[in-house]
Amino acid sequence: MEDRIYNFAAGPSMLADEVLIKIKEELFNYKGSGMSVMEMSHRSKGYLEIFENTKAGLRRLLEIPEDYEILFMHGGATGMFASIPQNLLKGKTADYVITGNFAKKAAQEAEKFGDVHIAYDGKENNYSLIPDENELNFSEDPAYIHICANNTIYGTEWKKFPKVESVPLVVDMSSDILSKPINVSDFGLIYAGAQKNMGIAGFAVAIIRKDLISETDPKVPSIMNYELSLKNDSMLNTPATYPIYVLGKVVEWLEEIGGLKEIEKRNILKAQKLYDFIDNTPFYRPHAQKESRSLMNVTFTTPDPELDAAFAKQATENGLSNLKGHRLVGGLRASIYNAMPLTGVEKLIDFMDRFAKENG
Ligand SMILES: *Cc1c(COP(=O)(O)O)cnc(C)c1O
Repeated sequence: MEDRIYNFAAGPSMLADEVLIKIKEELFNYKGSGMSVMEMSHRSKGYLEIFENTKAGLRRLLEIPEDYEILFMHGGATGMFASIPQNLLKGKTADYVITGNFAKKAAQEAEKFGDVHIAYDGKENNYSLIPDENELNFSEDPAYIHICANNTIYGTEWKKFPKVESVPLVVDMSSDILSKPINVSDFGLIYAGAQKNMGIAGFAVAIIRKDLISETDPKVPSIMNYELSLKNDSMLNTPATYPIYVLGKVVEWLEEIGGLKEIEKRNILKAQKLYDFIDNTPFYRPHAQKESRSLMNVTFTTPDPELDAAFAKQATENGLSNLKGHRLVGGLRASIYNAMPLTGVEKLIDFMDRFAKENG
């Protein structure tokens, strides 16, 4: 592990050492099967055990109630952008709250399938904050309300979710799922691409209230049809066998360290240290407004874009990689998901301090 660097990428992103060690141990010969999980039939007894254990572990960890189903879907979060309206719109209007680029993409995809009402768009403030509840203009009788829990590119995060009464709240949690405890019952559908806090790229997890899966239009492509996915236990075709196995390992790791309360504590500590340093160092300017800041993606700039570029380059030379911000915001971004240890954040702060002194 000595030559591993601290990878601040937004996704795919770091995995915990503990997870990688376990995967390595099991790589050639999974529990005496004589083969790797990668080589297993998805219908085999050995693999089905992995599959069921992963689902059961996720259910324990997130305390998913009995009336919610877990589906493993293809196409990542972007696949979900398309399948959500196709399964849930049912000829009605859907409300989308645009707090960032992925929220916008979700809305644009939904527009292909029916009526979309934009309940809020934060482009005026360059998506630097999460709106107050009274700024959201919902339509009369929406099929669902869609929000993005953590805006990966801009570095903002909902601290308190909007009250939506009986309308199903659909939430993209791609970049903050498993980072803290949540109340699953607040939502109709929670979904996330796997490659940020749930392991490696290759599929999306959908946690959906059972009653929302019904009478799906037969024209919906089978691979995006929640009813068919449920009926076939997410094995309508070959699922993303290895990424699902990796999710199982991530869940085991989180349970071993003490679950979501413990990881939340660690995440708050990491983020606080980094934000405190930024707030106290005038050389750096944060992008997100204080009360909306993300625990997962910390966005900031130096006094000019050339220095931003120099920062990213020199950081890489110091074993701190992928700190360049998304092209839409520019500047810098440190993604500090569950797997980023506190030492990584401390090393980053040391580097930032040196860089500010040398260039300020
Ligand atoms: C990364 C990300 C996506 C896109 O995920 P894919 O699995 O690549 O489609 C969508 N939403 C959010 C919030 C993300 O962070």
